[in-house]
Amino acid sequence: MNILVINCGSSSLKYQLIDMTNEEVLAKGLAERIGIEGARIKHKPSGKEDVVIEKPMSNHKVALEIVLNAIVSPDHGVINSMDEISAVGHRVVHGGEKFSGSVIIDDEVMEALRECIDLAPLHNPPNIMGIEACQELMPNVPMVGVFDTAFHQTMPEEAYIYPLPYEVYEKYGVRRYGFHGTSHKYVANKAASVLGQNIDDLRIITCHLGNGASVAAVDHGKSVDTSMGLTPLEGLAMGTRCGDIDPAIVTFLMEKEGLDIDGINNLMNKKSGVLGVSGVSSDFRDIEEATEKGNERAKLALNVFARRVKKYIGSYAAVMGGVDAIVFTAGLGENSPEIRETICEGLGFIGIEIDKEENNVRGKDKVVSTEDSNVKVLVVPTNEELMIARDTKELI
Ligand code: AMP
Repeated sequence: MNILVINCGSSSLKYQLIDMTNEEVLAKGLAERIGIEGARIKHKPSGKEDVVIEKPMSNHKVALEIVLNAIVSPDHGVINSMDEISAVGHRVVHGGEKFSGSVIIDDEVMEALRECIDLAPLHNPPNIMGIEACQELMPNVPMVGVFDTAFHQTMPEEAYIYPLPYEVYEKYGVRRYGFHGTSHKYVANKAASVLGQNIDDLRIITCHLGNGASVAAVDHGKSVDTSMGLTPLEGLAMGTRCGDIDPAIVTFLMEKEGLDIDGINNLMNKKSGVLGVSGVSSDFRDIEEATEKGNERAKLALNVFARRVKKYIGSYAAVMGGVDAIVFTAGLGENSPEIRETICEGLGFIGIEIDKEENNVRGKDKVVSTEDSNVKVLVVPTNEELMIARDTKELI
């Protein structure tokens, strides 16, 4: 049974075709810089040469069409036709209060996903486009939606209730949901296995640092707090999202700049974060490069980003009454020794000591703290795709 997993992010589309008889990845790849200059797909078919496909990709649907062609192509393909795909598992960012677990996608589910667009304006549209494109090309193949919100359903009330009038929770479901749940769950469990310990004995802080970024407190295997909230806008500074700000800034800027609701949402979701502060790019690689060349605002953006992560680590250690492990994952967390070092700097007082040499690693499971660091620091590449494929297999 082959399952295709589709994970559409705001500027990226990751895919994997997994043979679920042995969980072997037949092909995987990443379409990146979607919607911006330099779009490309790195396609890695098992047993064949990797290929880089450089083509303009105006949106996720265009990217997905190129991916599907690559998977069945005689040159770079791994299967002969779409018929060999039993199901498609889609990462879906926001399911509101409606979905507390994964579901088979039908018309009713699609409708519910569309209703959630205003809760995740950057993410649900590419997710929906991905599902629709697959439905068009593989009309008889079952699709499953796996929600980023599900893992955080274990948060206690005091973590998810906002100090707003309680009625807005009852009326509109205004509460914290949290996101990147599939990733936080996967890396927390993987970290426990890398450490050779039972997750039920550990207090772990997972830092998912990518274009979207969030931190979670995973107490004995359960999410008890996380930095994203009603939408993926809360929490850390991100590629283009502002994260936590004084809520009064919203009305202040609407008045000063004459912005309407779309205008302020656009400013906070698409023009802020490290892009907004640096004025350089939303891509951390561009910002790190600019910093090395002496660009002060790029450096400031990285420092703002790192300080936020540090603050969340401190507060989640307090929430759990201590911490046993910190895990770094996602594009930046897995690949940037510099940002990990900046974040961990000065955290010796809670027992976090990073080993600079061990930390010089990209993209593989590794403990990067010193031997005598009380808190273990790990790099764990996330594998949301495998988690999604397992759920998809189970449901179909
Ligand atoms: P993700 O959303 O997990 O795909 O992560 C995307 C982010 O990770 C982008 O901002 C990239 O700039 C960043 N990233 C990916 N590779 C690297 C790298 N080698 N060094 C620094 N940042 C990276």
